[in-house]
Amino acid sequence: MKTRGVLIAGNWKMNFTLRETGEFFAKVKGDAAKALPASASSAFATGRLRACVIPPMLSLGRAMEAAREAAFPIAVAAQNAHWEKKGAFTGELSGPMLQELGISWVLNGHSERRQYFGETDETVRKRTESLLEQGFRVILCIGETREEREKGRTTEVLTRQLSGALPEAGKGAAKFLDGRLVIAYEPVWAIGTGLTATPAQAEEAHATLRKLLTDRFGSEAASHTPLLYGGSVTPENADSLLACPNVDGALVGGASLKPESFLALLAAGARACAQS
Ligand code: PEP
Repeated sequence: MKTRGVLIAGNWKMNFTLRETGEFFAKVKGDAAKALPASASSAFATGRLRACVIPPMLSLGRAMEAAREAAFPIAVAAQNAHWEKKGAFTGELSGPMLQELGISWVLNGHSERRQYFGETDETVRKRTESLLEQGFRVILCIGETREEREKGRTTEVLTRQLSGALPEAGKGAAKFLDGRLVIAYEPVWAIGTGLTATPAQAEEAHATLRKLLTDRFGSEAASHTPLLYGGSVTPENADSLLACPNVDGALVGGASLKPESFLALLAAGARACAQS
């Protein structure tokens, strides 16, 4: 039963110019009617099926304009935002800047930010706390490396990253767990590699995360928190991953860049919603 519906989020990373952003939305709009099953309209209308794209900073405004004219609701998320609202932080962007564009979603703690740009559990926590406080929806990414999995340390890493990124339970943190916090389990070994976690591996990790959330914030808050799987998700493997009870959607890089495969992923989301 997909009690939290299904969210398909496309992380564009450092891809698409302004022109290509417009072309992507135009193609998605033009092909939606034939690519999506009939059940998708009611799933979108009730909010059970949600679509999101995560363009690079420069394309956020263009994506928002195009999303307003899309054939179905498409949320636009930023790939990152600073915890301070303004100041001397060259290269960053802030919550109020995003809010002025009408953007209410932010990706946080992606493994590429941790790996290449010095993001730590501490900076990820500061972003999570501040952005939730400012009213954003936050997609928080966590996941183990191949070495950590091979050493049997997956649960330990997920526990550390999750508790490191979230406010203490005693600080009223449960009030943030109202569905605005989305957690993306992204095993680093599966990102951009073509290696996908099996549905059993994804479900095991997601069940661990659900339990960690329950232990810390209570079952009601935990049950409102969507858990996405990310790591080489494609239209071919999406149905089996979305069939897992604790998988509430997918965070997709490469396969989200082609309008036809983004639509095919949304079609898989609509099927998963219809089956539950
Ligand atoms: C990602 O960038 O979050 C991701 C999961 O990428 P890919 O789907 O290409 O593995």
